[in-house]
Amino acid sequence: MDLYLGIDFGTSGARAIAIDQAGKIRATQKLNYNINAAISWRDSLYALIVALPIEIRQNINAIAIDATSATVLIGDRDGKPIGEPILYHDPRGASSLEKLRQIVPDREHLVLSATSSLAKLVWWLAHNSQSQPEAYLMHQADWLAYWLHGRLGVSDYNNTLKLGYDAERLQYPDWLEDWRSQHAPRIYLPKVVAPGKAIGKILPEVAAKLDLNRDCLVCAGTTDSTAAFLACLGNEPPKAGIAVTSLGSTLTIKVLANRPIANLASGIYSHRLGDLWLVGGASNTGGAVLRQFFSDAELQAYSDRINPDIPSPLDYYPLPAQGDRFPINDPLLEPRLEPRPTDPAAFLNGLLEGIAAIEALGYNVLAELGAQATLVYTAGGGAQNQTWRRIRARKLGLPIVVAAQTEFSFGAAYGAAILALQGAGV
Ligand code: ADP
Repeated sequence: MDLYLGIDFGTSGARAIAIDQAGKIRATQKLNYNINAAISWRDSLYALIVALPIEIRQNINAIAIDATSATVLIGDRDGKPIGEPILYHDPRGASSLEKLRQIVPDREHLVLSATSSLAKLVWWLAHNSQSQPEAYLMHQADWLAYWLHGRLGVSDYNNTLKLGYDAERLQYPDWLEDWRSQHAPRIYLPKVVAPGKAIGKILPEVAAKLDLNRDCLVCAGTTDSTAAFLACLGNEPPKAGIAVTSLGSTLTIKVLANRPIANLASGIYSHRLGDLWLVGGASNTGGAVLRQFFSDAELQAYSDRINPDIPSPLDYYPLPAQGDRFPINDPLLEPRLEPRPTDPAAFLNGLLEGIAAIEALGYNVLAELGAQATLVYTAGGGAQNQTWRRIRARKLGLPIVVAAQTEFSFGAAYGAAILALQGAGV
């Protein structure tokens, strides 16, 4: 049996999925880890692998890891973290933005955001002694993979996007190289390869410790959201027009397109996927608003009373609080949830229709910018709701299919397993 292991270190836990050559799931495992402590990441990685049955472990040909995007740490020459990791949502980079604007020529560049990896690096440099010996900037996925293949400072072009890597030209831009050589000459940025590319064989001592096959390859990983997209595609080859809407607590939309699109103001950016680009945005609307008013059981019960073919007369813009990022980027945007009918089913109908209208607007904005969706896979807690799917299909004017790996958070590990399969040349 030839198996391929995908490992996901997400915001709410670590997961592993072993698949066979046909993409069939052969084993899964999950555990919680302490995202604040890098040592817990490594221990959890080993524990997660060891928790798989031994006959699975011995047949794994390749491993790939995805992890939270823009979670970074600085490590010494032995990979030992210098200080704690800076997590994906850590806003301390905001204090570096003014400095960054002097470095980055493009006003719209993705790194000009408080949570970008580069903003975090600039913040770190301002708060740590410059007399440090050589050190490496690594993303969560890079650092975890290092403990399997032993090569420090190797990443992929998805994880390094928010560091400023130019995935179109496949190089760091000159302004970044110049800045680094002048202001951070002892910090090495990762060498970048394509997600899924085989980096090397597993370290013999790690293979022995974890009962893995000594020839097992360790492949470059990706970010958690890119892995989740790959999972939704399953065995279908990526092609322009395929989209994924994730309807969990928030709403995220990603469309495969032939060229990259970036629009910092609308929160739109693009990840490279081979010769294609994964263009997307994330809105604050989604299931979190529904949770403010309904339990999951009520959601299902009231949904069953809604006729999805009749448009609701209510014109809502449901948000859990003030402000949205995409498709309307306005931190002051107020939720619109009035008037509120007394019948809870009619109110829910308005909410479902309002969220679907934001999804439709998102797809329209992406289409106007050149990323036209033709088929929408849907994942996340909201994807289960059949009434809502019919409302959404009507508003979007696009076919909507429930993704096979519907549990988005578990799905990311499946996406990483697909990268491992590709990395092994299957
Ligand atoms: P997260 O983004 O937190 O991982 P999930 O993908 O687990 O979210 O989805 C949880 C969300 O799904 C909740 O906010 C909940 O309101 C919503 N949800 C759960 N069941 C339904 C349903 N039947 N119809 C619509 N939304 C639902």
